[in-house]
Amino acid sequence: MEMEKLVSLCRRRGFLFQSSEIYGGLNGFWDYGPLGVELKRNLKDAWWRDMVSAHDDLDTLAGAPSPYEMVGLDCTIIMHPQVWKNSGHHDLFVDEMVDCRESKKRYRYDQVLGRWASCDGKKSQGPPKQLSGPTFDVKGAEYDKIFVTSIGEEPESEIERRAMKHFKLRAKDADKLSWDGPAVTLDKINVADFDKTLGPDATGLGTLTEPRDFNLMFPTTIGALAGEEGRAFLRPETAQGIFVNFKNVIDSTRVRVPVGIAQVGKSFRNEITPRNFTFRSREFEQMEIEFFCHPDESRKWYEYWRNRRMAWWQEMGLAGDRLILRDHHADELSHYSTGTADIEYAFPFLPEGEYGELEGIAHRGDFDLRSHMEGKLDPNSCPLTVQLGEDGKPLHRGSGKDLTYRDEVTNERFTPHVIEPSAGADRGALAILCEAYTEDTAPDDKGKEQTRLSMKFHPRIAPIKAAVFPLVKKDGMPEVAKDLYRALKKKFPAFYDEKGAVGRRYRRQDEVGTPYCITVDGQTLDDKTVTLRDRDSLEQVRIRLDDAVEEIERRVTG
Ligand code: ATP
Repeated sequence: MEMEKLVSLCRRRGFLFQSSEIYGGLNGFWDYGPLGVELKRNLKDAWWRDMVSAHDDLDTLAGAPSPYEMVGLDCTIIMHPQVWKNSGHHDLFVDEMVDCRESKKRYRYDQVLGRWASCDGKKSQGPPKQLSGPTFDVKGAEYDKIFVTSIGEEPESEIERRAMKHFKLRAKDADKLSWDGPAVTLDKINVADFDKTLGPDATGLGTLTEPRDFNLMFPTTIGALAGEEGRAFLRPETAQGIFVNFKNVIDSTRVRVPVGIAQVGKSFRNEITPRNFTFRSREFEQMEIEFFCHPDESRKWYEYWRNRRMAWWQEMGLAGDRLILRDHHADELSHYSTGTADIEYAFPFLPEGEYGELEGIAHRGDFDLRSHMEGKLDPNSCPLTVQLGEDGKPLHRGSGKDLTYRDEVTNERFTPHVIEPSAGADRGALAILCEAYTEDTAPDDKGKEQTRLSMKFHPRIAPIKAAVFPLVKKDGMPEVAKDLYRALKKKFPAFYDEKGAVGRRYRRQDEVGTPYCITVDGQTLDDKTVTLRDRDSLEQVRIRLDDAVEEIERRVTG
């Protein structure tokens, strides 16, 4: 599927609009239209229901080490600035950026593309650098050799095969692969490492300034206080609100560890290169769980959440092989993490064989709670800068509050370990839109096969669940159809349409992904039955008019 077609459908049918479009738009910001808002809301509601409100806390769920509780939270977007100091975002949440001396253009290091990418969102057009000897092109940059290294126990021949495929080399170019140089790993970041190994000059962008860090948090000012005193930030993730409220939740409820605290909400990142539709936006929504457990149990819980979250995305309709669960290699892990897996989707805008992250599941140990208790007093254990006061003592400390937990049964006191499944609602909605987009054929009103565009959303996620049509606008059919429409609308979004040929009405609903259409016709007036048409199978069955609401409800929630 070409991405342009989906982008055009989204605009045409009211899923997504560029923010502030009448003023030329604002890069990295998107508005959800009437259908888009239903789609994203359905995704968030399904997540909340499946993870939190409908969670069974009495029994051990399949794969879980024990029963556990789940509660929700809704925290502010602006928090005390010290939260971000202790979380590490103030000092470490940075992207690398360079400027081209010749073209004056700015480039950011794009981990997905694995190269320096122009900040105007277009492919780099910098002057190609002449390298001696045979050179070849890797994503627009010229190289004379690719260095690869093994991953785990994989045989060299397999690595070579994958390297050839990844870099689109032909057999005769095999000598351009080498195992004796600086190492890069063969996954999506290998081109990145390769660029870093050779330096930005090797990317063909001309002479670049030294890479420098750019903090992705949006600064803002609280009240009338100017300068550092009033300086605050829009949250770049919802997670920290959960950590700083851990004690409040434990003290104010009867929940006991193991417990998950969930939050859905907006996050903001001043991405240097927003791109790929909503995939990399500057304002987006996250669906995050911080799951607190005993350190000895944490590995089992990590495995549980890794599998549970993958299964959930599959249930949402991402059931094909475009969705993968990828465990991070040891050298990709954050310094505090003993395990991270990404759920990734093969978005159509990515090169073949590459995937974009929908959700990360990380074993974070006690890093966050400990940071908010103690601050970062040891620069060797965490690279945060510790400012010292005149008395030589650290100026910057944690909250000083005790965020440890005492188990009432065993009386043991410990700092819980945390497993964090952190998903993006916008990336999720985008993956669902990409997966749903289908071009096939269906018979028109005269029975002739015509190409049709349909959005094959899972019924639970579909913005409109059912549409009702009177076959013709006479003989009392509209009245019967309107009554049915009103009855359906009390339960979920439904649509009424009496305009044009019925085949055309079906097509319009296929295009917005409505799973079921009900037609009231002459026979309805005789025997009180209606036609129920299935969007995907195109099967039409007659059901009793009186059963229609219940039947649709069963199908969309079942
Ligand atoms: P990336 O490496 O793609 O920038 P990340 O690893 O920084 O993502 P996390 O910090 O783990 O992302 O955030 C959790 C989730 O939030 C991501 O899996 C993604 O779904 C979503 N997310 C993060 N940044 C953005 C963004 N700029 N636009 C839309 N969604 C985002």
